[in-house]
Amino acid sequence: MKSSKYRPSKIVVDLEAIRYNVKEEIKRLPKETDLFAVVKADGYGHGALEVAKAALEVGAKGLCVSNLDEAVELREAGITQPILVLSYVSLEFLEVAVANNITLTATSLEWIKQLNDRLDKKITIHLKIDSGMGRVGIIDLEEMREAKTILQTNPYIDFEGIFTHFSKADSQDDSYLNLQKERFSSALKVFGETVKYIHTANSATALWHDAWESNLVRFGDAMYGMNPSGKELKTPYSLKQALTLETEIIHIKQLAKGEKIGYGATYETKSKEWIATLPIGYADGFRRDFQGFEVLVEGQKVPVVGRVCMDQCMIKLSSKLPVGTKVIIFGDSQGQFNSIQTGAEYIQTINYEITCGLTERLPRNYVNK
Ligand SMILES: *Cc1c(COP(=O)(O)O)cnc(C)c1O
Repeated sequence: MKSSKYRPSKIVVDLEAIRYNVKEEIKRLPKETDLFAVVKADGYGHGALEVAKAALEVGAKGLCVSNLDEAVELREAGITQPILVLSYVSLEFLEVAVANNITLTATSLEWIKQLNDRLDKKITIHLKIDSGMGRVGIIDLEEMREAKTILQTNPYIDFEGIFTHFSKADSQDDSYLNLQKERFSSALKVFGETVKYIHTANSATALWHDAWESNLVRFGDAMYGMNPSGKELKTPYSLKQALTLETEIIHIKQLAKGEKIGYGATYETKSKEWIATLPIGYADGFRRDFQGFEVLVEGQKVPVVGRVCMDQCMIKLSSKLPVGTKVIIFGDSQGQFNSIQTGAEYIQTINYEITCGLTERLPRNYVNK
C-alpha cells in the first residue's frame, strides 16, 4: 500500500527528540557500554531508517531489528554499522545474512549445530539465553556448554555476544527480575569472559536497573520518548515524545438536537452541535476503541463522537471552525499535550502497540532532520 499523501492525516516524527533521548541515555552509561538503537517494526512505527540515522548520529553504535528483512532494508539504504537481528532467522537464509554482514542471534543449540554444518563464510553471532521470558534462547546449562564449544571453535563464527531479555524490568516488584538475573549469572559462568558484548538491558533495564550486567544496551521504547512502564515508574530523565499524529477537519456542519452519528447510531446530539469529520480511521491504526477519546483542536480537548469508521471519524466542537483546521491526535496543540501513553490507557493497551499499529497509509514526515 502506498501512503496517502493527498490527504492531511500524517505522522510527524521529531528527530531531535530521538537524538535527545539517545544522548540522555548515553550520558548515563559507563564509557565502555554501547547503545544499540532498536528499530524493529519500522522503528516502532516511526520509520526505521530515519530513526536509525538520527540515533547513529549522536552515538548509537549499532542497531537491533526483529527479522532479517528489516536488517536488509537498512543495509540497502546504506547503513554500515552493526545490525543485530534479535530473534530467530531460518538458516535457509544464512547466505542473505552473510552477504549483508548481519549479526544473527543463536536461539537454540539445534540452530547452532545446523549453522556449524553449513557455514563456509564469516558471520557474527550473539547467543540468546532464555532466563525466564520463555520466548527464544537456551535454558539448559549442559546445552550451553555444547553451544560454547561450537561457537568458540568454528573458525567462521565470530562469537561476539551473549544476551538475555527481562520480562519485568518495568515493575516495582523485582522478584522475578532477580530470578532472571540469577539464572543469567549462572549462564555467564559457563562462558567466562569470552565475548565482547554481554547484554541484558532493554529500555526498562537501562532506565531503572543501571543496565544490569550490560556493556550493550538495546534501547527501544524510551528512544521514541515513551515510558516502557507506562505510568508505573518515573524515568530518571524526562523523555521527549518523538511522534505527532495529526490531521485536519475536512467537513463541518451543525446538527439539530437528537441527530445520530456514525455506524450503529451510537451517539446522539444533546442539543444543536457542531460536528466535524476527520479523514482518519481504524485502517490507519486509529482504532475503534478510540470512540470518546479527546483529541486537540487549537489547544482544546474535543471528543471523538460515534464509532470510528475505517477511514474517517467525527468530533464534536464547541463552535464552528473552518475546513482545514489542524487536529492533533497525539502531540502538542498550543501547549496542550496528548501523550501516546494517554491514548494507550484509553484503549487499555501499552504505548508500544499504539505507534506500531499506525499503518503504512499514514505518511511519515520528519522534522529537525
Ligand atoms: C524489542 C526488544 C528490545 C527493546 O525493548 P524496549 O522495551 O523497547 O526498549 C530489547 N531487546 C529485545 C530482545 C527485544 O525484543
